[in-house]
Amino acid sequence: MDRCPGSVEVHRAEDGGLARIRVPGGVLTRDSLVALTGLAAELGNGRIELTARGNLQLRGLAPGAEVELSARLAAHGLLPSVPHDRARNVLASPLSGRDGVGVLDVRPLVAELDRRLCADPELAALPGRFLFALDDGRGDVAGQRADVAVLALPDQRVALLLGGRDSGLRLPVRAAVTGLLASATAFLRRRADERMWRVAELPDGPLELVPDVRAALVAGLGGDAAGPLGGDPAGWLGGGPAVSVPDRDPRGPVGRIEQTDGRVALAASVPLGELTQSRCQVLAAVAEREVLLTPWRGVVLPDVAPPATELAARRLTGAGLLLDPASPSLGVSACTGRPGCAKALADVRADASGAAGRAAGTAVPPAEDVDGVRLPVHWSGCARRCGRPAGPAVDVVAEVGGYQVLRDGEAVYAGADLGAVRAAAAQARSSR
Ligand code: SF4
Repeated sequence: MDRCPGSVEVHRAEDGGLARIRVPGGVLTRDSLVALTGLAAELGNGRIELTARGNLQLRGLAPGAEVELSARLAAHGLLPSVPHDRARNVLASPLSGRDGVGVLDVRPLVAELDRRLCADPELAALPGRFLFALDDGRGDVAGQRADVAVLALPDQRVALLLGGRDSGLRLPVRAAVTGLLASATAFLRRRADERMWRVAELPDGPLELVPDVRAALVAGLGGDAAGPLGGDPAGWLGGGPAVSVPDRDPRGPVGRIEQTDGRVALAASVPLGELTQSRCQVLAAVAEREVLLTPWRGVVLPDVAPPATELAARRLTGAGLLLDPASPSLGVSACTGRPGCAKALADVRADASGAAGRAAGTAVPPAEDVDGVRLPVHWSGCARRCGRPAGPAVDVVAEVGGYQVLRDGEAVYAGADLGAVRAAAAQARSSR
């Protein structure tokens, strides 16, 4: 049984109901943010959490509060289809169409994907963990372990990726969403049972889907040669050079990013992904029209007029958001811990917050890669290490009587002194 929470069926945690609200492409209007801030305060514990898929979670819901929550989300346009509540997991390059880096503006494709997904009853059966991604060619979300993804190519086509691997299929941009949906449908029809949640779990691997996807696309074309796919199948389904799927980007954009229209995007990391009421209020006050949520537990405020940039940055850093790409607080994550998880041995988020600290200064540095060697640090309330980022990381794991700090699986500290724990983690993440 798929226990992944949604906004209709919530997870019962130790601190109350947990609702996960899907935000396709991470695009949240300012009005939606204001509405969610109010709902979190009224129905939950006031806090909103950013997830690693650019979605949002409300916690501390009273029993039954999800009924009112889902009704009000629907009224605000945040739940366009109840049956598809958990199926709308869509990542997209957050800066697409704004900073001139990618080769395709994927924003219209996000809207098309969400609309067509919600219009297909069969796709309501997608597991809550199934993930779509639309990468505009810069390689930022193609490596985020999506089940099905398109990576824009410089020749007006997209490469279809399945389970993070190049399928060999190339599609014109206008067929990108059709390719994604055909892949999702093929997965549902091929999976052995409902406990298979990810494309990577298919017995013969993700590329098992290629013949089905190809057949679905050709059939779509054959029905109407001038129809939505258009063109010659040999020209677009045919391969071409293999694309190398980018590695997972562990950090995402942070800092001031110049847009091609002369305006500025402010990209901020949200410590531990915690959007408190005051942070939400600041974001809503500073946002021009929308706030973009990123899979790196960050936010992007696009379209800021240059004269307003410094004041906006001051307000964001004043709320504890991180705008400095060199901040040592970047890359610190934590599981739920106490009081939300019954297995937790410590309030890891409180303990990790001290390690995360606060950003200094108010100037907005340009976004750049200033530190390619600092490892992420993940705090866990028990040995399960939920939410740990994939790949090399420093682990801070609660155990009876304190914490253990591990690097590459080797313990470098064990004890109850929080100051020493933090110092050991800081040392371990920066030493190679
Ligand atoms: S790592 Fe342990 S304490 Fe943390 S959320 Fe998972 S089960 Fe709970």
